[in-house]
Amino acid sequence: MSKSVLVINCGSSSIKFALLLEEQNFRIHGLAENLGTENARIKGVTVGNEPVDIHIPFADHKKALEVGLERLANYRPDAIGHRVVHGGSLTKAELINDEIIEKIREATPLAPLHNPAHLIGIEATKRLFPELPQVAVFDTAFHQTMPAHAYRYALPKFLYTAHGVRRYGFHGTSHAYVSERGSELAGSFKQGGWLTAHLGNGSSTCAVWNGKSVDTSMGLTPLEGIVMGTRSGDVDPSLHSFLAKNLGWDIYKIDKMLNSQSGLLGLSDLSNDMRTLIEASEQGNEDAALAIEVFCYRLAKSLAALSCGLPRLNGLFFTGGIGENSAYIREKTMTYLPHFGFSLDKNANNELKRGTEGRIDSGTGPQIWVVPTDEEGRIAREVQSVVELEVERNTAKKSQAEVMPA
Ligand code: ADP
Repeated sequence: MSKSVLVINCGSSSIKFALLLEEQNFRIHGLAENLGTENARIKGVTVGNEPVDIHIPFADHKKALEVGLERLANYRPDAIGHRVVHGGSLTKAELINDEIIEKIREATPLAPLHNPAHLIGIEATKRLFPELPQVAVFDTAFHQTMPAHAYRYALPKFLYTAHGVRRYGFHGTSHAYVSERGSELAGSFKQGGWLTAHLGNGSSTCAVWNGKSVDTSMGLTPLEGIVMGTRSGDVDPSLHSFLAKNLGWDIYKIDKMLNSQSGLLGLSDLSNDMRTLIEASEQGNEDAALAIEVFCYRLAKSLAALSCGLPRLNGLFFTGGIGENSAYIREKTMTYLPHFGFSLDKNANNELKRGTEGRIDSGTGPQIWVVPTDEEGRIAREVQSVVELEVERNTAKKSQAEVMPA
């Protein structure tokens, strides 16, 4: 049994890490950023609640992990979990070995910014802790239960069979946690049909039937779907040829525009941050107001569409920085969704405190809940189950070998 799990989320120039101690009632967080540059630093590691800010000029991922973990010297992890964005066809968390590393590498064309960074993190922790079990937990894995009619694009078949062009979906760890926890709160653990709306800088929706993902808004990449901080979400696929033919843009420029200059930022021409936009809109900024309206309308449209994947609709869970904290966005979204009998309790919605779970419907239609996500906790639990299974397997092999000596 792993008593403490180090959860690592490695980006190209940053690492978020959290050490979760037994029964997850104690966590230590750290963020290493600007890696490889003069401004590389580690922030926020708190042992005994002491804030830390350490300057580590030109540190790479390994160095940053070394320095960060030195601060945790009294809390050595028993196992390590890596959040990996794209697992290709892998359907569950896996103990990391050469074969799994190769599979993560093979999925790189599908997540060119994320998977190479995860591999750097995996290499660094393998060198630092060669004796510890390491587990990869994939953002895509939860959605591997989608039926073909939800994951296939209407494109020539060979693009799917030979090149893996299909919808994968992301934020799986969050949708899995929130749908499980939410259905538990509703008294129907992993039963019935639920919609989840994970609304942060990246945002996506998911339809979950009896605890399994049956459809989601993100696709081949995390660009498809609803409006995000800087990502466009769905656009007409012909936009690419329009921009190429009329503005002479190449594919890299179009890609950058859709991923980094669009979404709330593109619409408002002001910010990708929802709080900033709500404040600006209250002060009369019309572009900010429109960005918020498009965000809520497209979110409602996505939820309505995903409900087609559910034989029955029990309710909806809001999560993520926006979903957990903004009563205003939740209310505005629900005004576009009267069709299924959804009815928001405005007082309950407004009174829900930051970071708390709670029900916010009026009790007459499908339920509406706010469920703060816990991706780290979920990753740690998956790591523990993989490690426990491995221990059981090894014990069984050993006792078999003792019964039948070679
Ligand atoms: P990430 O996807 O990077 O994990 P978060 O889940 O932390 O992001 O969500 C960040 C978003 O949440 C930002 O757009 C931020 O403005 C928004 N947010 C946080 N608190 C509030 C709030 N009280 N009202 C509206 N938006 C909020």
